Amino acid sequence: MWVMEMVSKKVVTFDELMQEVSTYIKKEENLNLIKEAYAYAEKNHEGQFRKSGEPYIIHAIQVAHILTMLKTGPKTIAAGLLHDVVEDCDVTFEDVSTLFGEEVASLVESVTKIGALKFKDEKEYLASNHRKIFIAMAKDVRVILIKLSDRLHNMRTLQYMSAEKQKKIASETLEVYAPIAHRLGISDIKNELEDLSFQYLEKDKYYEIARLVEVRKAERDAQVQHMIQDISALLTSHYISYRMFGRSKHLYSIYKKMKTKNKRFEEILDLLAIRIVTNSDTACYEILGYIHAKYRPIPGRFKDYIAMPKVNMYQSLHTTIVAEDGNIFEVQIRTEAMDAVAEQGIAAHWRYKESTNGEKIQQKEIEEQLHWFKDFSVMSDEVNDDAMEYMNLLQKDIFEANVYVMTPKGKVIALPNGATPIDFAYRIHTEIGHHTVGATINGVLMPLNTKLKTGDVVNIRTSNQSPGPSEDWLKVVKSAHARNKIRSFFQKQETERKASDVKKGEELLEEELKRRSLDVTVYMDQKRLEQVAKELSFTSHTDLLYALGVKQVSLISVIERLVKHKTTIPLDNDELVKMYNRVERRKKPSKTGIVVEGIDSMKISLAVCCSPVPGDEIVGYISKGNGVKVHRKDCPNIAHEHHRLIEVSWDEEIQQKTYEVKLVINSTDRNFLLSDIVTVVSQCKAGLQHVESTVESDKLTTVTKMTVIVENAEHLQSLIANLRKINSVRTVERVIQ
Ligand code: MN
Repeated sequence: MWVMEMVSKKVVTFDELMQEVSTYIKKEENLNLIKEAYAYAEKNHEGQFRKSGEPYIIHAIQVAHILTMLKTGPKTIAAGLLHDVVEDCDVTFEDVSTLFGEEVASLVESVTKIGALKFKDEKEYLASNHRKIFIAMAKDVRVILIKLSDRLHNMRTLQYMSAEKQKKIASETLEVYAPIAHRLGISDIKNELEDLSFQYLEKDKYYEIARLVEVRKAERDAQVQHMIQDISALLTSHYISYRMFGRSKHLYSIYKKMKTKNKRFEEILDLLAIRIVTNSDTACYEILGYIHAKYRPIPGRFKDYIAMPKVNMYQSLHTTIVAEDGNIFEVQIRTEAMDAVAEQGIAAHWRYKESTNGEKIQQKEIEEQLHWFKDFSVMSDEVNDDAMEYMNLLQKDIFEANVYVMTPKGKVIALPNGATPIDFAYRIHTEIGHHTVGATINGVLMPLNTKLKTGDVVNIRTSNQSPGPSEDWLKVVKSAHARNKIRSFFQKQETERKASDVKKGEELLEEELKRRSLDVTVYMDQKRLEQVAKELSFTSHTDLLYALGVKQVSLISVIERLVKHKTTIPLDNDELVKMYNRVERRKKPSKTGIVVEGIDSMKISLAVCCSPVPGDEIVGYISKGNGVKVHRKDCPNIAHEHHRLIEVSWDEEIQQKTYEVKLVINSTDRNFLLSDIVTVVSQCKAGLQHVESTVESDKLTTVTKMTVIVENAEHLQSLIANLRKINSVRTVERVIQ
C-alpha cells in the first residue's frame, strides 16, 4: 500500500493525550506534573475561545499531543499545556515558576516571547522578526519543539483566519519554521508545515498536484506492492527480519522539485519509493547487497548516509534500482532507530538518549548538535541591527550549507559550498582560526585555499607564533562566520595601532614644546589643536596627532601654527570633498553598433522607448533634425510612421557594447524577493542601473521596475528566462514606453 504517514490530525481530548503520554512516561510525579499543568491551564483559559469557536484549552491539548508524538519529556509537555497562559491570561512567570518550577517557567517564558514578537510591530521588517525568532529559540531546544508544535496546530486551524493573515502566517511558516524543522531533522513536522503553507500560498497549484497524485495513485500502489512482494521473497529467503513499505512524497516536495529541477510532474512521480527498516547496521548493508545482486542499480545514485550522516543526523542507505518490469525504484534502508531520527530528528535522538540520562545532560548533548544555532546568537551581536544582513548570513551559512566535512574525531561540520580549511578552522574555534598555519586534508598537507569536498577529513595545524590571519584570507573564505571573525581581528588591530600612533604624536608634540620651553597646557589645549587641525585639513585633533605620530605632517609646521596662531584661509570643505570624491566615470562608447545602408555620416541613436539590443529586429526612423532613431520593429510608437522608416541593421563587428533595457517584473509579494532578483541579475552577468519595487494595494503583488545593461538579445533572453524561474515571479516583460 502507498502509505501516507502523517501525524494524527484528529482533535484529541486530555484523556487521550494522557493515554499517549503513559506509553512512555511512567513516573507518578511526572504524570502528576502534566495533570496539574492541564488543570491550571484549563482554569486560566476558561471562557476563552479560538477563532474556530473551540474552547482555548483544546489548542493547548493539541500542542501537548504533538509534543507527545515527538516523545518529549514531562516538563516540555507541561510547558506545552501552559504555553499561552502568560500571554492570554492573568498569570505571571513567577506564578508558573512557583507552581511548576523554574525550568517549566523558563520554557513558557521563551515561547511567549517569540509569540509576542510576532504581533509587536506589524510594520517591523520581517527579517528582523525572523532573526529574533532564531535567537530566542537558540536558548533551549525544547523551546523550538514547543514553538514548532504550536505553529503546527495553528497551521492546521488556519482556515479560521482572514485571507491576509493566512498568507502572512503561511509564508512565515515556510520561510522560518519549516527550515528549522528540517534542520533539526523533524521531517514529520516539516512536511506537514510545508504542505499546509503550500495550500494557503498557492492554492491552485496545491490542488492541481493533489489531483494529479490522486489520478495515478491506484496504478502506482499496485507497482509498489508488486515490488514489495518481490523483495520480501528475496529477504525472507535469507532469513533477514525487516519492515517494508512504500513511501509517498509530500505535495510541496513534488512542487519544489518541479520548479527547481524544471521537470514535469510525470518525470518526478516516475520514481517509485520503498523503505526497508531492519534491526542493525550490518543488516542494512546485507539487504543492500542482496538487492544489488538481484536488481540493476543505477550508477551514481548510491548514498551511504550511515557511514556519513547528514548534519541533521539523518542516517540511511539510499539506492536506485531498475525492477524486472522496468520501473525505477528508490530504496531506503535503515534501522528502527535511524527511522525514528529521520522522522522526528532531534526529538528522537533525544529520546534514544533519555533512557540513560537525566534531562539536563541531554540538553547539553543536543546543544552540541545545535552549535550552529549558538553561532547565530554570537553573530547577531557583531552584525548589530542590520537585520537584512543577518538573514542573508543565516541563509548563506545554514540553509545553503552543503559541504559536510569532518574533524579527525569524526564530528561533521557543515560549511557553505566552496569553503576552505580556513572556514573550517574558524567554525571549530575563533582562536584556532586566528592561529592557523596549515591544514591536512585526508592526511595530505594542502594549501589553505583548497576548496573542501563533502567527506574530507580536515586537520588544522596551528602555531602560537602565528602573527594572526592574513588579509588574503578574506578573498578565500566562503562563510560569513569566518569573514566576520577575520574582519573584526583586523579592525581591532587597526584601532589599537591607531590609538598607539595618536599617543606617539601626542608625546612627540609634548616633547618638542617642552624643548622650546613652551607651556604644554596652553599649547596642547584641545581647542587650539582643533583649530590647527582644521587649518591643515584634518577632521579632528586626534587625526592631527595621528598624522604627527606616523610623520605625515611635520612637527615644525604644527608647532609654528600653534605658536603663531596664524589665521589662514581655511580650505573650502565642500571643494575638498569634491576633489577627493571625483571618480573617473567610464565613458560609454558613442557608437550605437548600427549600420545604415549607404549612410555613415548621419547621427544614429537608439530609441529610449523600446531600447533595442543587438539581435532584436530593428528599423530606423528618420526624425526631424535629430538623425536616425533606431526602434524595435514591433515598437508601437512607430507603427504608423511607414514613410519615415528606413532599413538598418546591427553591425556584427561591434563587440562588448552595453545596452540599457527596462524590465518590469510582476510577482507575489514575499521576503527577499528583491535580493533574489538582484542575485539573478548578477549571476547572469548583466549590469544593474536602477531598480525599484512597489507593493500593489492588494498587498500580494510586487511590481519591480529595473534598468539592466546587457550585451545583446540573447543575453537579455537568458536573463529574462532566469528571472522567470525565481520563486513567486509571475511575469517578466520588456518595457515599451
Ligand atoms: Mn499557542
